[in-house]
Amino acid sequence: MARFIFITGGVVSSLGKGLASAALGALLQARGYSVRLRKLDPYLNVDPGTMSPFEHGEVFVTDDGAETDLDLGHYERFTGVAARATDSISSGRIYSTVLEKERRGDYLGKTIQVIPHVTDEIKDFIRIGENEVDFMLCEIGGTVGDIEGLPFFEAIRQFAQDKPRGQCIFMHLTLLPFIAASGELKTKPTQHSVKELRSIGLAPDVLVCRSERPIPEKERDKLALFCNVRPDSVIAALDLKSIYEAPLAYHQAGLDQAVLDAFGISPAPQPNLKVWEDVADRVYNPEGEVRVAIVGKYTQLEDAYKSIAEALTHGGMANRVKVRAEWLDAEVFEQDKDVAPLLEGYDAILVPGGFGERGTEGKIRAAAFARDHKVPYLGICLGMQMAVIEAARDLAGLANAGSEEFDHEAGVKRFEPVVYHLKEWVEGNRTVQRTTADDKGGTMRLGAYNAVLTDNSQVAQIYGDTAISERHRHRYEVDIKYREKLEAAGLCFSGMSPDGRLPEIVEIKDHPWFIGVQFHPELKSKPFAPHPLFRDFVRAALEQSRLV
Ligand code: GLN
Repeated sequence: MARFIFITGGVVSSLGKGLASAALGALLQARGYSVRLRKLDPYLNVDPGTMSPFEHGEVFVTDDGAETDLDLGHYERFTGVAARATDSISSGRIYSTVLEKERRGDYLGKTIQVIPHVTDEIKDFIRIGENEVDFMLCEIGGTVGDIEGLPFFEAIRQFAQDKPRGQCIFMHLTLLPFIAASGELKTKPTQHSVKELRSIGLAPDVLVCRSERPIPEKERDKLALFCNVRPDSVIAALDLKSIYEAPLAYHQAGLDQAVLDAFGISPAPQPNLKVWEDVADRVYNPEGEVRVAIVGKYTQLEDAYKSIAEALTHGGMANRVKVRAEWLDAEVFEQDKDVAPLLEGYDAILVPGGFGERGTEGKIRAAAFARDHKVPYLGICLGMQMAVIEAARDLAGLANAGSEEFDHEAGVKRFEPVVYHLKEWVEGNRTVQRTTADDKGGTMRLGAYNAVLTDNSQVAQIYGDTAISERHRHRYEVDIKYREKLEAAGLCFSGMSPDGRLPEIVEIKDHPWFIGVQFHPELKSKPFAPHPLFRDFVRAALEQSRLV
């Protein structure tokens, strides 16, 4: 049965709890253990699928088609363990399950209460697959003291109580602010945060303290004394230049040792950190630089395209170069017909996924520029659809080409639907059907689907294979009705769904690197295994940089 590590946060949010959890997962793996990481989010949305990327950052999609918190992306990037739908849960989902059960009469006339009904539902969730791994790491979203987090804290308290002694530990992440005037790191906010935790029955075994500077002995002892943890379980988490140094830095700070000590595992197996040493070496010692323009919509919040930023970094690591990604607002490209001044000087252009019409004509112009000027282009999901529309208009003479998505949004028919709303498709051995009137949440083609690549196509060479599986999240598709016309004009359909109905990849023959993919390759890229498309895209960018 798995040992459980519950990770909570205090003092302020955004301290990097997800990263600390992911790094700890990687360190336990480096010692030969199997791990799974989970995120429990106190918000009331049923899942993050309908939350704005501006507010919540990217939606991370799992192979089994769940729309989850972006922390699951961190987990996957650090551990290589593919996240599942059952690795992410929110209060909204918990309550909706409890209420469904109540309506069905499952509780046999009882009064439904937070304790035990909601907490039981949370505990059942934590237990899923508990026999599959050595360690289950469960991160609780938000900070201690949040009203909505209380059922989760209560549930993990009960959970640890239900298990044999020594089966569960608690790790708490806080901030030690540095007060310049007195030249001191302050421990009081951490003391208060731990006090708050203890008042609801949770005592941390390991305290991870984010801090701008090393923690002096005196402060460490004070934290240990007042927070009731051992001094060597007070772990300093200093700011890092790259997140990919986190496993090494946390190891040096003693995190994995403190965790194993807390479980009483002794002697602990020694870690093999070679992979992470290589990763850090590649991040910190690049031998060149490329500039990539990302022409998108959600450019104000970096987290909105988190996995793309990381996948580009991985592509850079594979080529030993630094990728300078610059985020450009697609709407700006709509103001002036000539986008050349905005795009000249970049070694490659990436148009990411997105929803809605705003900014799309700008993305089409960016694709046109890349095609005309033979600049490497990677179009992801909406970015592929825009590249197809551009080619349809400019190469195939379909002046009115567009996406049904935009007509639906505007409520008028203006475009020839080269990209149309898919209402029926095959998932495994069943047919899925959707109408335009369905709910917004969870009505997309979601999760892993296979694709078959054309022999000798550029993508088949890049993947080194003709059978691939990638993750999807979209409602609209390129219509194969136009395949012949587009291929005659030079846009090849080099990847298709196994039944041949859905275009998965397009590429332009007469171009050094112009590829559009209907799926999200960024979700599967890892620092120690960069995604082939990103690896080769950065290689092409590097070649382009040498031309100018
Ligand atoms: N809006 C487009 C669709 O639904 C693209 C989605 C995306 O880029 N993820 O098909």
